[in-house]
Amino acid sequence: MINKVLVANRGEIAIRIFRACFELGIQTVAVYSQEDEGSVHRFKADESYRLSSDKKAVAAYLDIETIIQVAKESGADAIHPGYGFLSENTEFARRCEEEGIKFIGPSYEVLDMFGDKVKAREAAKKANIPLIPGSDGPVNSLEEVIAFGNEAGYPIIIKAALGGGGRGMRVVRSEDEVAEQYRMAVSEATKAFGSGEAYVEKYVEGPKHIEVQVIADEQGNTMHLWERDCSVQRRHQKVVEVAPTVNMSMELRNRICNSARDFLDSVDYANAGTVEFLLDGEDFYFIEVNPRVQVEHTITEQITGVDIVQTQIRIAAGETLEEIGLPKQEDLPLNGFAIQCRVTTEDPNNNFFPDTGKINTYRSPGGFGVRLDAGNGFQNTVVSPYFDSMIAKLITYGTTFEDTVAKMDRSLREYRVRGVKNNIPFLRNVVNHPVFQNGTANTVFIDNTPELFN
Ligand code: ADP
Repeated sequence: MINKVLVANRGEIAIRIFRACFELGIQTVAVYSQEDEGSVHRFKADESYRLSSDKKAVAAYLDIETIIQVAKESGADAIHPGYGFLSENTEFARRCEEEGIKFIGPSYEVLDMFGDKVKAREAAKKANIPLIPGSDGPVNSLEEVIAFGNEAGYPIIIKAALGGGGRGMRVVRSEDEVAEQYRMAVSEATKAFGSGEAYVEKYVEGPKHIEVQVIADEQGNTMHLWERDCSVQRRHQKVVEVAPTVNMSMELRNRICNSARDFLDSVDYANAGTVEFLLDGEDFYFIEVNPRVQVEHTITEQITGVDIVQTQIRIAAGETLEEIGLPKQEDLPLNGFAIQCRVTTEDPNNNFFPDTGKINTYRSPGGFGVRLDAGNGFQNTVVSPYFDSMIAKLITYGTTFEDTVAKMDRSLREYRVRGVKNNIPFLRNVVNHPVFQNGTANTVFIDNTPELFN
């Protein structure tokens, strides 16, 4: 049983979790940093506490001990970490357990394995999941990188072991560039992730990014909830996501989805997780596991009817997939299509630099086939420079991909955000582009399509 959930997060995902708790009859606790005094998420919970440490903005949401203290004082018996912040923090999960607070996510042993991409690769290899050719474990010197490049052939990609969010990766196209790129990769990784450990992989040209949503209970039952196509990216960060993949055969879909499920089953995974792959033609290769709820979980919910956040909470409360009422794997629905656009206050005409300030006009889209998961996308809210620039996720769903695209275009046209610059016109260009509409967009589609910026 879980009676009260503290959400160690902000913005749209905090609100998403509060909504799930409300529907389950569970009490909710919000936390917020000083800078988030006007942030909407704090008004959407039953109780709300300012994180009264001397830590500012992002650092306040990373302050493990203060958050645990609030949980204890408010009587929360579980913590949902959302995504980002402490969601993949082994130490946080361990401290929660020590204090008798249920961490809504996988065990800290699993977090530890998947927080480090080198360890994750090793686990995937053990489970016979296809891997991109890469170094065996971390690379420790420039010579090792060069040796790999010569053996595997260029281009190659250097990745920070602890990297995430599209950061900490460098593509190297020839031996001349290796020294400089390796130096930059290590220095960036040290700064951003506190460790310069890196490994190298063959760089796949123009793949699709396909990821499988998996859900597992604490009794060892594991199932997949089909896949998502998250190929539309800018600088390795997702911008528009689609479920399921357009024009993918059921044979290939089943192969990818089953291998993701079997992999997480083999490591005794519990709760929600995503296995990410690159798809090159009919071949797929493991890249990483995200052991948490993802930004784009929404589109999977739309095509399967499964509420992923409610399921996470009920799994943490000890229920089995069957008790939760999930269908059997072979009966899992695959209904129509869903698209998600990440609406941000980034300015596409200024290198996507995030804009800040007051939203003085806000009119949200609605109607048949539209879902809006908004964070600080509301009239008169102030978008601060301290946090992620995403203000809302706009999701549309329909029976065919064509209809779902039409609904997205229509919704983006209805959407009015004034006072801060935003990427809505850019998103319209993406969903109206023939490459997106015929389902062939790959991970370099945005980078290689200058007309999207018109
Ligand atoms: P992060 O943890 O930062 O999200 P990922 O390993 O998931 O990093 O990779 C993010 C994106 O980077 C992928 O979706 C893909 O576009 C690109 N990428 C990663 N590895 C490769 C590779 N070996 N070849 C080509 N592209 C890659």
